Amino acid sequence: MPEIGSLLASLDQPRYRADQMFNWVYKRHVRSFDDMTNFSKTLRSQLSETVHIGHVSMETIRSSNDQSTHKLLFRLSDGQFIESVYMIEGKRQTVCLSSQVGCALNCDFCATGQMDFIRNLTAGEIVDQLLFIHNHFQTEATNIVFMGMGEPFSNYEQVLKAAHLISHENGIAIGKRKVTISTSGIIPTIRRFADDGEKFKLAISLNATTNAVRDQLMPINKRYPIGELLNVARYYATKTRHRVTFEYVLMAGVNDSVEDAIRLRKLLAGLPCKVNLIPYNGTGTYQRPTEARIDAFIKPFLNENIVISVRRSKGDDIDAACGQLYYQTQKRK
Ligand code: SAH
Ligand code: SF4
Repeated sequence: MPEIGSLLASLDQPRYRADQMFNWVYKRHVRSFDDMTNFSKTLRSQLSETVHIGHVSMETIRSSNDQSTHKLLFRLSDGQFIESVYMIEGKRQTVCLSSQVGCALNCDFCATGQMDFIRNLTAGEIVDQLLFIHNHFQTEATNIVFMGMGEPFSNYEQVLKAAHLISHENGIAIGKRKVTISTSGIIPTIRRFADDGEKFKLAISLNATTNAVRDQLMPINKRYPIGELLNVARYYATKTRHRVTFEYVLMAGVNDSVEDAIRLRKLLAGLPCKVNLIPYNGTGTYQRPTEARIDAFIKPFLNENIVISVRRSKGDDIDAACGQLYYQTQKRK
């Protein structure tokens, strides 16, 4: 981490101090210079005066009854709020990170979309959501998803910087294929991501099979419609040889018919991909389909070359599904 190196050099410290600090912050989950016990008292106080670690502080935490899901509300240094979710499923521990305060894209089924866009997060603020969780739960996540508040590809530099920090082998060291970046479909940035040869997983929120319905759900579709979006997904798959994951939020009577499923199968034919169905969460304008409807949606995909799965979010009792953040916060205020 060059920043740590130059900071310590400016304090006339030897080079190995940078590695020590990296180790304290990323491996030993320390959130205060005072806890870096192999640093002299003078150095610790010099550091505290110069920089602060800890970009986020916890405002509240809500945990599901079964303790498998925890939703944390963080306060940033300028008083803004963001949320992260920590989910435990056996050995798999997933942290869902926010990339922006609010979101400018206004998807009408999404709680964050109802909020104004306020600002991008810095890479420090993004990584610190994870470091806080590591420290608070004395744990280490195995998987990261950029599916919290905001559109990661509208904050590309900082999100990629954070993703690289998270996967850096001397630090948190989560494998690149265990880090998923989810986008609503910003076509030029998907192309850039492919051209940059980034190894992180790509997920695209498709959510509809016709432009008429997608225009309604996701206004960004008017700019980047389904046909062009699937073209860039094909470009990505060819260029990187990685599968794309398509997320599809199922909303009763909106996009969950068998005709939709058949159209979806046709749209994705020949595209190396996976489909992740997410039954709508929350109590807004939309409703989650019944289990029978979900089963009927999956049926046309059986015996096909497309892997399809249903993400049944736990933590429903605390509205902690990714993409469902903020709403409760707003209500509470
Ligand atoms: N902006 C990015 C990432 C954040 S949203 C994107 O749109 O992909 C992460 C995922 O949550 C998206 O797939 C989105 O479609 C989904 N989502 C949003 N609101 C939801 C809700 N109420 N229920 C279920 N999924 C939702
Ligand atoms: Fe933004 Fe994603 Fe929510 Fe759409 S679904 S409003 S892009 S966070």
